[in-house]
Amino acid sequence: MTSSLLRTLIPFDIYGGMKLTGKYFGKVLRQANRGAKRTHIVVEYPEVPTTLMPRFRGRLQMIKDEQGEVKCVCCLACEKICPTQVITIEKGKKEGRKTPFPVRYDFEMERCIFCEFCVESCGFDSIILNHQFELAAYDREDFSHAMEGGFQNMFDTTPVGHYSVASDD
Ligand code: SF4
Ligand code: SF4
Repeated sequence: MTSSLLRTLIPFDIYGGMKLTGKYFGKVLRQANRGAKRTHIVVEYPEVPTTLMPRFRGRLQMIKDEQGEVKCVCCLACEKICPTQVITIEKGKKEGRKTPFPVRYDFEMERCIFCEFCVESCGFDSIILNHQFELAAYDREDFSHAMEGGFQNMFDTTPVGHYSVASDD
């Protein structure tokens, strides 16, 4: 009765839209209610180490191959795709190497949004977003990363923070 009355008063499209909105609104409410009943666990970090998900996106890191050679071949895909333009690469040559060598690979982490587009665009598996966790710093220079020089090292794998990584299962 109420339904047919509403249908008469409200134009068909608007009625349909309202019905759909109501349906999803109810679904969201039911899900939120179920979530509220779950036990929430607060970890007293850093005294208690946290557990990171395997896909946690930390700092951009360059990868070397088994021979210890930089895998990056300067295709520039990561530099081009980066929405915040925080990667700067300079293409060069290295004696005994057939592919181009990045004489410069700079990463300005302060503007990185950890979207992972750079990693996804790399067809050579040369970069990852690692699990370094505590990335806050007081000094601006600590956000500048390069292959060498006075900046943070692009190959650094030292764990930063108190964490373990959950298994991929
Ligand atoms: S994660 Fe995103 S914002 Fe950060 S360097 Fe890669 S593409 Fe750029
Ligand atoms: S996409 Fe990969 S190979 Fe290409 S420049 Fe970036 S890191 Fe190097």
